[in-house]
Amino acid sequence: MSVRLILVGPPGAGKGTQAELLCEALGIPAISTGEIFRRHAKAHDELGQLAESYTSRGELVPDEVTNKMVAARLAEQDAADGFLLDGYPRNLSQVAALDSMLGESSIDAVLSLVADDDEVVQRLLGRAAEQGRVDDTEDVIRHRIELYHAQTEPLISVYRERGILVEVDGMGGIEEVAQNLVSELKAFLTK
Ligand code: AMP
Repeated sequence: MSVRLILVGPPGAGKGTQAELLCEALGIPAISTGEIFRRHAKAHDELGQLAESYTSRGELVPDEVTNKMVAARLAEQDAADGFLLDGYPRNLSQVAALDSMLGESSIDAVLSLVADDDEVVQRLLGRAAEQGRVDDTEDVIRHRIELYHAQTEPLISVYRERGILVEVDGMGGIEEVAQNLVSELKAFLTK
């Protein structure tokens, strides 16, 4: 299916996992800015070192850097027939940047995973113990959630006004949430 999607949700809502499942089902690439930053950080290259100086504190990587990286990724061949952006845009200025990259009406749907703060903190602390991500300590987690409310939630209203917001309950098990995402997306696209 050739469809251009955005997935938003608080840290710990299972965005990465759901992005992969949905993209597999739809045959489109998942473009995760957080994942791209982590890959560069592992390679210890210049972008990785710069990104890690922000991600390790739970801060957003500067827009200029992130926007440029996304523009380059979207220009790759596999994104020509649709994609899912996971973790981008993350603030209103990134919304404007994406609009100018693709045109304002180019996104088909914005999927918003809804989850409550206490639950996501517990999930992230669990993940920290398992995976040891540098941005999964309790203080950093709380800061990332604050940033989500302050900077990312406002863009949900923008997309709601554009009539492309699809809200999905993110609190169930992985399979259940995945099924809800597919069925709510299909219902929206065939409306
Ligand atoms: P995520 O895997 O989406 O939770 O992202 C991990 C970290 O990468 C975030 O806490 C930010 O530091 C950084 N990051 C990911 N996406 C963006 C973005 N769109 N803008 C700025 N920083 C980002």
